[in-house]
Amino acid sequence: MTRTPLIAANWKMNPVPAGALEHDSPYQSHAAVDIWVFPTFLDIRSCIDAKIITGAQSGHWEKSGAHTGDVSMAMLAKLGCRSVLCGHSERRQDYGEANDVIIEQVIAALEENLHPILCIGETEKERSSGREKDIVKAQLSSCPFEKEVTIAYEPVWAISGGDPNKPAATTADAQQMHAFIRSLLPEGIREQTRILYGGSMKPENAEDLLSQPDIDGGLVGGASLDPEKFKQIVEIASKLT
Ligand code: PEP
Repeated sequence: MTRTPLIAANWKMNPVPAGALEHDSPYQSHAAVDIWVFPTFLDIRSCIDAKIITGAQSGHWEKSGAHTGDVSMAMLAKLGCRSVLCGHSERRQDYGEANDVIIEQVIAALEENLHPILCIGETEKERSSGREKDIVKAQLSSCPFEKEVTIAYEPVWAISGGDPNKPAATTADAQQMHAFIRSLLPEGIREQTRILYGGSMKPENAEDLLSQPDIDGGLVGGASLDPEKFKQIVEIASKLT
């Protein structure tokens, strides 16, 4: 089975990159590669209006209620979002989002016909103690796979945090974890589920990473804020299809 590559831009708490909303920007739809963009809540509307496939960086599992500062999956769907990130490591770290709450988000997203990207990955300490497989297994357990869900494997120790020189995981380590994650998926959806790599993906390493058999695209943070770098990653993904 061939899986269409997905290159997703996680802009985090940053403004829309210059020129991104123009009709010929690299964030617009592409013939061979799916491109989805995750701006701040404030910029979702303008990205949708610019005909960019847009998702949110987070969403609350309840439809409405007393949750100061939150936005629900139902509200995101009503606005026109197509996808939502669930369990990004920065949400786990900054807000203590735990696996059970993250799975509630995935369930709520599916109920609203939003396509969830479930972010999983181990910390440096967890990897150095040899627990990386147990960690991703726990993060995946209870995930409902009856509808389409995308997984993003993002080893926390490889996320750039804004440092453009931070190295990504080696292609061997990344492929090994992606193959392991795929082996955990229910048989019926194992081959069709996209597993993205995230963590310092950039034009210099994208070809090596994206040519691995179980790496189906990238969740790109820092490099996605630079339209030229993002375009190069998309072109590399397109060339490999
Ligand atoms: C991310 O945080 O989702 C990410 C992959 O960031 P970066 O590409 O900057 O490592």
